[in-house]
Formats: sequence, C-alpha cells, structure tokens
Amino acid sequence: MIINYSIRDLISFTGVIPKLSELWASLTDQLCLWCICRHLGITNISFYKQSCQDAVAELRSSYSELKHVEHKSCDKEVCGGCYGVLTTHFTDNDFLTKIVEEVERRKIEYEHFCCSIALPSTSVVRDYTYLLLCADICPGVYSYLPLENIPTVKDIWKWMCGARLERRFGKKFALTHMDILLNFQHAELDRESNKLEESFRDHFKKRKGQSTDKFTHSSIVRALTSVSREKLRTLLTYPPHRLREMCRLQSMVVTHNPVYVAGRYNKYSRELSQSPWFIDGERKGLDTSVSELLSQLLLEYTQAKSQNFTSSGREDIDVQMLGSGRPFTIQLLEPERVLSPDVLSDIERKINQMDPLLVRVSDLTLISREEADKLKDLEAEKRKTYTAVCVSDGDLSQGELDILCEHRDMVIDQLTPIRVLHRRALATRQRTVHWMKAKLQCNSSRIFDLEIETQGGTYIKEFVHSDFGRTVPNLCTLLSNRQIDIISLDVLSVHVEWPPAPDNS
Ligand SMILES: [Zn+2]
Repeated sequence: MIINYSIRDLISFTGVIPKLSELWASLTDQLCLWCICRHLGITNISFYKQSCQDAVAELRSSYSELKHVEHKSCDKEVCGGCYGVLTTHFTDNDFLTKIVEEVERRKIEYEHFCCSIALPSTSVVRDYTYLLLCADICPGVYSYLPLENIPTVKDIWKWMCGARLERRFGKKFALTHMDILLNFQHAELDRESNKLEESFRDHFKKRKGQSTDKFTHSSIVRALTSVSREKLRTLLTYPPHRLREMCRLQSMVVTHNPVYVAGRYNKYSRELSQSPWFIDGERKGLDTSVSELLSQLLLEYTQAKSQNFTSSGREDIDVQMLGSGRPFTIQLLEPERVLSPDVLSDIERKINQMDPLLVRVSDLTLISREEADKLKDLEAEKRKTYTAVCVSDGDLSQGELDILCEHRDMVIDQLTPIRVLHRRALATRQRTVHWMKAKLQCNSSRIFDLEIETQGGTYIKEFVHSDFGRTVPNLCTLLSNRQIDIISLDVLSVHVEWPPAPDNS
C-alpha cells in the first residue's frame, strides 16, 4: 500500500479512495503524474525517485481501479500543479548538470549543500483549487483534508533530485552551508494573483511602510481558510483552468549561508572603541576598533561579503575589558571558504600577535545560528564584575569603606544617564548591585579601589558619582554624602558561559 495519509480516519478502512479512477480521469488532463500523486496524498519518498513508467506500473498493480490507466509522460508537460518544475525539464540529469556547473563556476568551498525552490507565491492557490476539485469527486476523503497534508512541489523536487545531487557533489544535502536557490517564474500565475487580490481585498492591503511581498504563503493560506469551501469555489478560478505554458527558471543563485564565529575578547586600551565611532563624520579614538580588529582576518580568509559584530553588552571607549573577556559573535555573510577549527585557532593566534596592547581574543569557535541568537538572551541574565579607581572630596577611613561590604543585592533606581539621553529613552530602571568592596590606595586617604558586581545593564559610573542624583542610592549617599568621582573603570568579568559548550547530546 503506497498511499499514506496522515489523517487516517479520512480513508475508508480498506485504505482505498472511493472513485479513484474518476479522480484520476479528472486530474490527468491538467496535472503531471507527480502532481496527481501528491494530490492523492502519496508521501512515500522512494515512490518519487523512480521513473514515470515504474511509478505508473506501481499504481496499476497497487490499485485495481487504476489497472487500466494510460502511461503518463513526465516530459516537458504543462502541468497546472507544478508548472513544469517536476517534469524532466527541471529534474533530469542535464538540468542537475547545470546546477553542478554553476556551483563549480562560483568556486565556493562548502561542507554541505541545500537547494531552495522559489515559486510564485500564488502557487499555493492552485494546490487549493485542485484539492477542491478532489473534494467534489471524493467528498468523504477530501472534504476535511488540510492543505498541509499534500506534499508540496518543493518537497517532491527535493525527493526526486536531492539524493542524485548528493552523489554529483559528493556532499550531504543539509539545511546549512551552501544554498542553491532556483527561482521559478510564471506569467499566468502572476495574473492569477490579481484575481486573488480582487477576491480577498481586505487580506492583502499593503500596510504602510511594508516592503515585503504582500502575497506570502501564510497570508494566502490565511485568506483561503477564512471562508467556507463553498464560498471559495466562487472566489477562485474554479474549476482550475489549464495552463498554456511552462514556468521558466528566472535565476539560479548560489550563496553560502552565513557562518557564526563566537569567542571572547579583552581590550587593553582606553582609546579603542568597540565599534567604529563617528561624531559629525569625524572618527573618535584610534583609527580602528575592537570589531574591526577581530573580524579583519576572518573576512580576509573567508572572502565573506560583510560581517556583523554582536557582543554581550559593551564597554565605554575609556573602559578596559580585562579578565576572561567579553563574549561576542561575528556573523560572516556569504563566505566563500569554510572555516575549520584548525584555521580558527590559526586566525586566533594571528589576531593576538597583531597588537597585544590593544586586544586579545580567546576561544574562537564556530557556532550555529540558534546558538548565536542566545547571546542576546544571556544579556539580561548575566552578572558583571568591575574594578574602578574612585576619588573622594574629603578624607576617608578604611573603616568607612568597609561599610560598603554590608550592602548585598541592593536594588538601585537609575534614571537614564545624561550622557546616553540622546540614544536611550528617558526611564527609571531598577538594577541590582550584588556586592562591592573598597580599599584605600597606599598612602592615600581619598583615592580608593572599588570592586563591584552588578546585574547586566547597570551604569557603574553613574552609581559612583550619582549623575546629579539621577541614580539612587549611589556611592556618595552610601558614604555619608561625600562627593565621589570615578577616575578609571575596567570590566573584570562578564559571567556568561560563552562560547556555548559543544552539544554532544
Ligand atoms: Zn506537476
């Protein structure tokens, strides 16, 4: 038995679709063999890997009702369900050779590959109309069958060609790394989108500022399922009409999916910004930045088009990042060469030799996109430890400073600091100071070292000098209303496990 519905209740207990021969006769006029079979709900992958002749023979032997069906050609047929994508024109060895040649021409290094098929977004409407046709003939089976139960053209193309491409490339078909996008267009389908828009005017109003296509798969499915099937027959072109021409392959685009490199960095300069920093077109600080120093060699090696640097928070330009360093991720877009662990450790060594007085990098590791996304989530959870050199306007004793140790998990209110008001909304944010300790410097009664651990997002400078009373409580109020100022600040530790430990489960 080759027919395999996921909604088994819809099939009679014998597993036979009533009126199968009638259904076949109605569909065979407009659909190719493979599209008939997917509308019959055949989801057996190996079924689609055989020749047309063998597939028809299997159908004939499996179903007495189909014993006498004629052989169907799969050759350049104008099909109303796949528009020709599943015919030999776009699935035979000659077509696969074109794909292989295009990949070779690009000289991209890759470990795995995948193929994406882009069809006109309104193609889902045609699947729906044929489903309505099936429901007219076999209401018992099809009336309640959701569209998701029909394998898509994209599924079938991958079933037919995926394994053959694996053999041609000698690589695995997997959803990462290199992507070959086959972009199919069809003029008649474009015209059908006008009809869809007329029938479902409210569903496809383009919102202000919306740049993406208003006809997305989900917006169309939402529209189609918002009305009854009876109503649909009047709103769509029903019964579906024959297509006059095949689709055409508008473009074949080979891209390497982004790769993500994680690591931690230290910054030993008070003039180096984390990312390029410009004010009124003029560059501030040194003529390079942490993100540029870290990504330069990765960009050169991979020949990536560009990079995006993300970190778990950021320190001010005059703050050093010490200790185990700050977690970061670099997204490399369209890299043409593969990064191996050996290459990464070589790049790490070279970065650390470039200018050891500016930055140092450690733990460079390749991570997945999902893991890269987690860095932002970790932001709120993390704790950070700082060390600061502070100065008081009057003499202090070590005994007075020791009182600071008594404050544990102290909640403070921080009104947006004046220095960041131009980029952050005015609001009072509650942050936790987990602990702190202070020690007078040798031979001084006014300068002291402060070590402090806080919740991520706490403004330390403002906690020390009070920011004109905008942070409450602050170090001034905690030290009997003395004026305290900050001379220098360094981050000692960002308490986040990063890069994530390899998942071996
Ligand atoms: Zn077809």
